[in-house]
Parts: sequence; structure tokens; C-alpha cells
Amino acid sequence: MADFNKATIGAVPNPILAEKSDPLHILQMVKNLKHQPITGVTDEELLSRARNLAQLEALGGFIPIRKGTKSPMVSSWGKEYLSLEKALSYKPAALAVFSPYFLILDYDAESALDFVVRRGIDFTLSTWHIRRTDNLWRFKQIFLVTDEMLDELPERKIKRETNYLDSGLDVFCSKKSYILCDGEHEDGEGRYYSPGGLDVCDLQPAPAKVWDLIKEVSEFQQVGRSSSKTYSNTKSKKLYPCPICGRNKNYWCFENDNGLIHCMNGQTFSAEKEHGSLKIGDVVNGYALVAQISTCNTFKIHNPRSKRIYNPRPVRRRRVNARR
Ligand SMILES: [Zn+2]
Repeated sequence: MADFNKATIGAVPNPILAEKSDPLHILQMVKNLKHQPITGVTDEELLSRARNLAQLEALGGFIPIRKGTKSPMVSSWGKEYLSLEKALSYKPAALAVFSPYFLILDYDAESALDFVVRRGIDFTLSTWHIRRTDNLWRFKQIFLVTDEMLDELPERKIKRETNYLDSGLDVFCSKKSYILCDGEHEDGEGRYYSPGGLDVCDLQPAPAKVWDLIKEVSEFQQVGRSSSKTYSNTKSKKLYPCPICGRNKNYWCFENDNGLIHCMNGQTFSAEKEHGSLKIGDVVNGYALVAQISTCNTFKIHNPRSKRIYNPRPVRRRRVNARR
């Protein structure tokens, strides 16, 4: 436990929960429950798991999950941080946890693994992993973020991005998105668990490449929101090849149906590698640069009609004519 605090949660100044669960008491509680919300067979396994989970009380709160659902048994979650013991007192079939300091990569399909590998992200990297006993290829990888990192995001979070760019990857970093971490899956078949070496005590800070992805998703969500009132209907399509940087493999640049092109910065291809240093307003290949972050340059079609701004007279004349 001491190692955990030293290695990882040093970034979090104050433990969220002052009260601490007693793992031995938890063991007794779990053995008396009808459903088993903590995965383990022997007393030793259950005790070890309870100890690991209880460490999360320094970072977030637990949520009891109703049998056969993914739904909380309490409505106060997100505002109220329950200890592990308190959550178990609801006799749940599974447990979830939430924290403002979690960053989650949720691999929902094999394509999600290819997607992150192309970004230089190691999906095997040792940190906390949550797997299912009945489906080993769907798993979650959880990292920690610091207050300083959160300050880089609008509202200090990103909402859950499901199937980001059709990759099969869900990404989120918000206490409003809870993660099921132990006990029964809603279908009653599988169970959630964390393998040894990939448990709570192995939680690590988010590596730079993972954090870059989060900032990119944040940008994706911001640009979509501000440029299209129907953001929820906004779809993106990958560009084969990208008209800005010419990327013609590992297709990564994409266009939203609101016409914005997001040209991604990679090792081989990027807008600036192709066109030299760029600033907002620069036009390349008929597209104007409208936003710039470390991972991505965003363009929209340069509309020559905007030249009117610099030559207003014909416009005025046309308006006068129109009134006649
Ligand atoms: Zn591009």
C-alpha cells in the first residue's frame, strides 16, 4: 500500500475518503452475501482483492450495481463518495468506481488495439486493467491523471467518446463516467476481474501518448460542438488520402460532415511536415487552417467569397440593387 501511495497517488493531494474500509470485515461481508460482488475463490484471494480495491478510496467513490444490470443502486453517486464497505452494504451483484482522476481506454473490439498501436500506445502497458472472465479481448486500461493535466482540458474532463473515429475504442476521463470493476457482468455469465500485476496497486500515470490522445478527443469534442449545432449527428469519415498532409497509409486524418478536416500530426505525415510552419488563417490546397493543437491541425474549405470582407463596395452595390 505504501508503494502505491508513493508511486502513483502522490499527485493527488488529499485522499477523497478519510474513512478506511477494513478488508477483514469486507471479507466477512462478502462471504455472507447472496451475490458475490468481489471476485475470488479462497479467503486469501478475496482479502487481497478487498485490500486492493480499498486503495481506490483515496481517489474516488464506489457504486453498488444492481443484479442483472449496469445500473447504480444509489442515485447520489458522483456527489457522494461511498467507501467500499458502504457500497457492499447495499448487497450489490457488482461494483463500480468513479474518480475525477481516472483516464480510461475501453477496448471494445480488436480494431481498437490496432488503432492505439498506430498512435504509439502500448495496450499491454502495466497499469490497472479490468477484464472479463468470459471475454478476454474486451478490456479496460485505466491510468491516473493529475490536477495539472486536468487543467489542460475544458471543464477538466472529456465526456465519454464512444467508438472514437470508428476505431472500436471508447475513451473517457470524467467522474461522470463510472467503471464496472468487480463482481458479476450484467448477463450473469462472466465476472469482472484484474489479473495479478495489472491490479489497482499497479495504477500508473497516463503516458504522454495517451494524454495526447485525450487532448485530441477533447479538441474533437470542442470543434464539433462549436461548429455544428447538431453535434450528436456529426459523423466523421477517414480521408484516403488526406488532402492536407497526403497521408496515404494508417489513415488517421478525418473529415466531419460539418466539413472540418482534422489533419493529424504523425511521425511521417503532418500538415507542417508537408507545408512548413503554419498559423491560423493560412490556406493550403484550398483549405484554411482554423484550429491548431499539438496533435492535430483543423482546416475548413477556404471560401473565396470571404474576399468581400476586403472589398466591400461590390457587396454594398448589390444590396442597393436588391432593394429596388
Ligand atoms: Zn492529414
